[in-house]
Amino acid sequence: MKHRARKQWGQNFLKDSNLLNKLVALIDPKPEDLILEIGPGKGALTKKLSQKVSKLTAVEIDERLYSTLASQKELTNCTFINDDFLQTSWSEYGFGSQGIRVVGNIPYNITSPIIFELLKNRSKWKDAHLMVQKEVADRLAAKSGGKEYGRLTVMVQSQADVEKLISIPPDVFVPKPKVDSIFICIKPHSRYEMDKNMYARFDAVVRAAFGQRRKMLRNSLADFDLTKVKSIDFDRRPETLSVDEFVLLSNKIGWINPVEIPS
Ligand code: SAH
Repeated sequence: MKHRARKQWGQNFLKDSNLLNKLVALIDPKPEDLILEIGPGKGALTKKLSQKVSKLTAVEIDERLYSTLASQKELTNCTFINDDFLQTSWSEYGFGSQGIRVVGNIPYNITSPIIFELLKNRSKWKDAHLMVQKEVADRLAAKSGGKEYGRLTVMVQSQADVEKLISIPPDVFVPKPKVDSIFICIKPHSRYEMDKNMYARFDAVVRAAFGQRRKMLRNSLADFDLTKVKSIDFDRRPETLSVDEFVLLSNKIGWINPVEIPS
């Protein structure tokens, strides 16, 4: 069946077999691996990966693509779920408690929500190999000091390490996207143990600091009590603070107007 790519679902399919082999080599699937694929599309990556692992579950929002995949007899160790990844409960993947490996050439318009959904469930997976727009990869993997370093960088790097693996040009996709891509690997770490309250405060501090990026911290953080924080110079601007420093700052800072913490 001929499928017209749907723009609203970020459908840019991978066709180039050499590139697909390269991506699979970077993922380096092991026979015992359990793979969760986000947005399998026409199954280009799915087919190559499923031959190398014990079990693969894939979530696809497009009913027509899902039906085609689900009817393919050779994908016997694959389970397909026709749903929105952002709305699917992780219990539906049926993986038990083993570490899942996440893979996806994902829709670029919902990259950040997908990454935050992954981070919310970060105890359940070991690593995530994702295709993302180059600019987003640059922000995710940025070091402090540069213009790419911002709220997304700090929130993600407080919970995971991000590595850029290879650059991917538009012409390996059908249809071609207007942007360059980078294949990245995200691995959860636990360098900063934050409970729910600490995380809510960290989120508020990082949001306020980068909400007014050009201002000195003393101004952008005017709603917080800074008196107990001795080790940070508040004349600094937010992009000069490392992730370590943001965590330290938010652990020491006082919350003048505590907000309701979402459960
Ligand atoms: N992995 C395939 C397709 C990539 S295009 C390939 O590399 O060729 C992105 C895919 O994600 C499309 O199939 C699209 O329908 C699907 N998709 C878009 N939004 C989604 C969502 N919220 N949940 C699950 N899948 C989604």
